[in-house]
Amino acid sequence: MSSSAGVPVVMTADRTLMADHRTIFGGMVASSQTTTVPRALMDRLLAPPSRLAVAPLGLRRIEAALLGDGFSEGEIAIAPVERLREVIGPETRVIAVSAGEACGLGMNSTTMTAITGGEIYPRHLVRELMAQIAHLRSRAPHAKVIFGGPGAWQLVADDSLRRALGVDHVVSGQAEGNAAEVFHAAIDGDPLPTLIEGLPVAASAIPAIRGASAMGVVELSRGCGLGCNYCVMGREPMQDLPEETILADARTNVAAGLTSIGAISEDLLRHGGSGVNVRPERLMALLRRMREIEGLGLIQTDHANIISVAGWSDEQLRELRTLMVGESGARYPWMNLGVETAAGALLARSGSAKLGGVAPGDWGEFAAEQLRRLIRAGFVPMASLMLRLPGETEADVLRTLAWVERMSGEPLMIFPVLHAPIDGSPAPTRADLTSTHWRLVERCYDTNFREVPRVFFDGQTATGVPLARRLAMQALGYGQVALWSALFAWWGARAEA
Ligand code: SF4
Repeated sequence: MSSSAGVPVVMTADRTLMADHRTIFGGMVASSQTTTVPRALMDRLLAPPSRLAVAPLGLRRIEAALLGDGFSEGEIAIAPVERLREVIGPETRVIAVSAGEACGLGMNSTTMTAITGGEIYPRHLVRELMAQIAHLRSRAPHAKVIFGGPGAWQLVADDSLRRALGVDHVVSGQAEGNAAEVFHAAIDGDPLPTLIEGLPVAASAIPAIRGASAMGVVELSRGCGLGCNYCVMGREPMQDLPEETILADARTNVAAGLTSIGAISEDLLRHGGSGVNVRPERLMALLRRMREIEGLGLIQTDHANIISVAGWSDEQLRELRTLMVGESGARYPWMNLGVETAAGALLARSGSAKLGGVAPGDWGEFAAEQLRRLIRAGFVPMASLMLRLPGETEADVLRTLAWVERMSGEPLMIFPVLHAPIDGSPAPTRADLTSTHWRLVERCYDTNFREVPRVFFDGQTATGVPLARRLAMQALGYGQVALWSALFAWWGARAEA
């Protein structure tokens, strides 16, 4: 990769997106830390440099789009922050940065900073990355800095931050459709607008990746279309990627040494279906074909919907688990499901179709039953709750608190997050949380403190994380339990006062 002249197109991302995360859970935990955690623990334990050449899936797609448009492999370098010096030089014309967080406005970031204080690490590391790029730009006087990725919207909304970070152009949204055009224009010195709208391509035209993606993730689908008005995916209809693209991406990761992959979707259980309808046999047929890939270990996932669980029989859920776990030995595969609130009427007012045909008054119990079905099938559900949904009342919070207390004896995890508006209106902060909210948060974490260590350890074991690192992570986790328990009590008392 070393070149004193530099490589024409350099792509990079902050450390949390390019680190050695063997599991999706590991990546989530690292991205949830704030600067209250010592930096040395981030660098050595939570987000150490990857032993493999990995890049966020979004950058891999852009790389594939460029290669498909006539760029050669020698004209593109994907490098983590510590290797930028090797690839940025006088010949460099584009420095493309992908980030999940530029301003710390994402739901997870606002929640974690409200709970623990400090600055969310993804934002902190983006600022460090941009400072390093600013330093190296003196070697590459003709280079333009183009910023994209899931956090790009935060720079679209904040031009002074864009300038402060040294970003010339921001590309918002998916951009496989016009990335090559934009990069060619930047290389040729043609004028480009500061804000560039990315052009997506149809799922059938999404190019297969050419190198390993962080955490081995492969997209099964894009979009969701269920219409929750607090979610950018709400109006993006779900589109499945072609099976051949999914399988090619999985093979690329396994061949690169990422043998445990992440099958990601906004709703795994709706893959192969249409609209809100599920077709379990389609997903299972795909997973059976994946299982034919030699060397494939654990198949992890991230999201699914409560209403989609209801469309699967108990037997199908058990078969799904078998297909995902394979021979990896994993005992506690998890799946994240947005329950959001036990107050169904509040959820319905959010414009969500998550309830399906469920009567709002029945939502809490319906969601609880679907989670119990997943548990009986051998999964560990990770339920998420949303605090401060617009219109939320004290009665709504009490209802959800009672729901959490009823569920707390089950083997599951429950993560509360703060509602984060996507229309630019101010996000709730710690000051907006009442003592009832803090009781709710405490009850959720009573469950998480019990369940997260075993699920985390299990996933790391199944994906080959060395024992020393697993034990160090467990020790760190116990330290955080003590700290967070004290913080919950402190903030709860402050809210009461
Ligand atoms: S179901 Fe989930 S992904 Fe879909 S619109 Fe609602 S919050 Fe977004």
